[in-house]
Amino acid sequence: MRAALLREFKKPLAIEEIDEPAPGPDDVLIRVEACGVCHSDLHIAEGDWPQLIKIITLPLTLGHEAVGRVVAKGENVTNPAIGDRVGVAWIHYSCGDCEMCREGRENLCSSQKITGCTEQGGFAQYIKARASHALKVPDSIPSAEAAPLFCAGVTVYRAIKNASVQPGQRLAVFGIGGLGHLAVQIAASLGAEVIAVDIADDKLELAKTLGAGRTINASSRNAVKELRSLGGVHIAVVTSGSKIAYDQAFSSLRPAGALVVVGLPAEPLTFPAISMVAGEFKVIASAVGTRQDLKEVLELAASGRLKCLVESRPLESVNEVLDEMRAGRLTGRVVLTL
Ligand SMILES: [Zn+2]
Ligand SMILES: [Zn+2]
Repeated sequence: MRAALLREFKKPLAIEEIDEPAPGPDDVLIRVEACGVCHSDLHIAEGDWPQLIKIITLPLTLGHEAVGRVVAKGENVTNPAIGDRVGVAWIHYSCGDCEMCREGRENLCSSQKITGCTEQGGFAQYIKARASHALKVPDSIPSAEAAPLFCAGVTVYRAIKNASVQPGQRLAVFGIGGLGHLAVQIAASLGAEVIAVDIADDKLELAKTLGAGRTINASSRNAVKELRSLGGVHIAVVTSGSKIAYDQAFSSLRPAGALVVVGLPAEPLTFPAISMVAGEFKVIASAVGTRQDLKEVLELAASGRLKCLVESRPLESVNEVLDEMRAGRLTGRVVLTL
């Protein structure tokens, strides 16, 4: 099969012919139809995260937003069936038995295996997955649109869910990119009054069509002042990787408001303790999502209330996609199709 392999950190991926993976007794083999390209793929390829480099064995096939059809299964597998269309997420496997798993936090499992990181990923014609963690995709969602829900979608969904947004609350989304355009739709579907903040007018126009009641271009207007004039926001979700966006989001909170951490700036976030105490602010972080979160986000998409805007490219263009991502030139979510 064809696969895009990371053979060396900081080097382009190598498109090669390799053997198809053989499913173990609890696995399914999936013929990949689409796999989204996530910023984490770029971070892994660059060797940016020392804690992950330690657990990675090269060569590695990246990609943790894969959707395709089950073509073979191990002897213990009853579900999914051959022919079912399923998706594979960042969490390749969680043990079900550790303290975190028992608390329903399988996304924090201490024995978790990670797709496209500790396990071979979806930038390939076939991927092997644990049957228990391969989730069926509703028929109404095309594979290319479903793929990004398995990381980008579930990540923002869980983040907003963790913030316990209530109908009518003001929720600002900072950064309307691959994650942000999903955050706007999810927040709107939960009844929030959504305010989109970005520095690009075309992204703000898009946010309006997706359910944002207000937009603020932070390059030409004072986002903090405008949001404070509304009384501040109950929840600020930052999907941007910019520290400035975090500073603005924090300053835009109303008392008892919550800052939701999704985007990953390279530098540490710092907020004055006196302001945090005076406003009783909460900082909420969230790491991808559980299978239950995934089911909910897939249902939201199947109901038509969430649609991921994607651009499909062939597997062979993966290095150009990563280059464009590195240069910050990508607008929507790019999905490799096979
Ligand atoms: Zn991801
Ligand atoms: Zn566990």
